[in-house]
Amino acid sequence: MFIDTHAHLTFPEYKADLPEVIERSKQANVEAIVNIALDDEALAASLRMAEDYPGYVLNAYGLHPHDASTWTDGIAQRTRELAKANKIVALGEMGLDYHYKLSPIEEQKEVFRKLLQLSQELDLPAIIHSREASKDTLTILHEENQGKLKGVLHCFGGDMELGQQALDMGLMISFTGTVTFKKAEAVRQAVQQIPIERIMIETDCPFLAPQVYRGKRNEPAYVVEVAAKIAEVKGLSLEDVAARTTANARNFFEL
Ligand SMILES: [Zn+2]
Ligand SMILES: [Zn+2]
Repeated sequence: MFIDTHAHLTFPEYKADLPEVIERSKQANVEAIVNIALDDEALAASLRMAEDYPGYVLNAYGLHPHDASTWTDGIAQRTRELAKANKIVALGEMGLDYHYKLSPIEEQKEVFRKLLQLSQELDLPAIIHSREASKDTLTILHEENQGKLKGVLHCFGGDMELGQQALDMGLMISFTGTVTFKKAEAVRQAVQQIPIERIMIETDCPFLAPQVYRGKRNEPAYVVEVAAKIAEVKGLSLEDVAARTTANARNFFEL
């Protein structure tokens, strides 16, 4: 069994066929999906989805660095309420994205800090997005870690300086379909170096469909391709990678 630890099923890409997407996911032995909601509308839809598929679709709520400039304290308040009602298993995604810089860097940093503080206040794991921002990500992680930070670097891109320091801090590392991309040798090298105990898998769908589906819409069923590539790179069986990464995710999200 597999767990897709990062999906965006409230995106318009799934509007027409979500039940089929979920069905294919079940057929592919995916036993749970962590859905990432990043605004009010997505959150409302995500909560409905969790009711439609109890125990199967789980929720995380956060503010993407792209949207950091839209922060309001209402987001923190809502997060506290969701945590209290046991409606979320994690905060995120949160972090820094200097590739697009859709929000000013200073605002991204500020929101990242707030959400890291909140995740520790609420004792929930943090799902961290870091793109072309390794140095500042590390600085903020070190400064905000109150000793009980629980986090995952999602969609890991292969920068092992970031990876190693994250591992030293006790964080998990999560891989998407990028691990299957022809040119992603650095990502596969990272898979080789990171112990299986610290690895989780995700699709980040609808983005980043694995190589065999490249250019198509991604979906949770394809997380199996991520596991298969990790198995190949590490010389493990697919069953072993499935069992280990699922145990890691259950432990991480306290499922
Ligand atoms: Zn992300
Ligand atoms: Zn995402």
